[in-house]
Amino acid sequence: MIAIIAAMDKELKILLNHMQIDLIDTIADKIFYQGKLSGKDVIVAKSGIGKVNAAITTTALCLKYDIEFIINTGVAGGLFPINSGDIVVSEGVMYSDVDVVQIDPDLPYGQMPGDPYIVYADDALVNKTINTLNQMKFNYRKGIIASGDQFVTDSMKLKPLQTVIDHLYAVEMESMSVAITAFKFNIPFVIIRGISDVIDDTLQVQMYTNSVEDIADMTASFVISFLEGYRWIE
Ligand code: SAH
Repeated sequence: MIAIIAAMDKELKILLNHMQIDLIDTIADKIFYQGKLSGKDVIVAKSGIGKVNAAITTTALCLKYDIEFIINTGVAGGLFPINSGDIVVSEGVMYSDVDVVQIDPDLPYGQMPGDPYIVYADDALVNKTINTLNQMKFNYRKGIIASGDQFVTDSMKLKPLQTVIDHLYAVEMESMSVAITAFKFNIPFVIIRGISDVIDDTLQVQMYTNSVEDIADMTASFVISFLEGYRWIE
């Protein structure tokens, strides 16, 4: 089945409204909704916010269910030249807040010892996402997404990443945990995030507060369209 993970109720609302829910399961404090969405067998999970919550949720999914691939969706902060309402699709994902440079100078800022610097998303899933975005005439970018346990409002915090990565387009708090867990369990994944706020904008926080529900709905609706058109063999 296809797994869809989102952090917050507002990011799950449209998915659950459109889903035929057959079974609800709880593991730790995580809720898993099993059923059909757009004619596909799906398991939709609410992770909660942040990297630990996302890692617990993804691990539970990988251990308990037979997952074909994982979509992690929801909202994110955007970096220039991204606009509010755009969609960012993961070429790859990295940490925004890992720093062991003092003790391990060979590793760049952002890399966890023993783990990849960037975890790349599944090419076929990324391409299929982009085909649907093009068909639906969305504004989107394919690029790198960074995750950390912080709501980022100042791009200076990301400078050590931006000096290396020229197409870092979005920052949020869960997708690297999903990516790295999927990578370790050898399960394909893609991250699809709608931009709820633009980092460094003087009105960023108001932008988030005023638009997060609409952007979450838009992004979830896109994921439903993506599933409708999705075929394993094309
Ligand atoms: N209590 C608020 C705040 C949630 S934290 C609420 O319920 O809306 C922000 C969430 O949105 C996280 O799940 C994160 O993944 C995403 N997000 C959106 N903009 C972000 C930004 N600028 N920095 C980090 N995460 C962001």
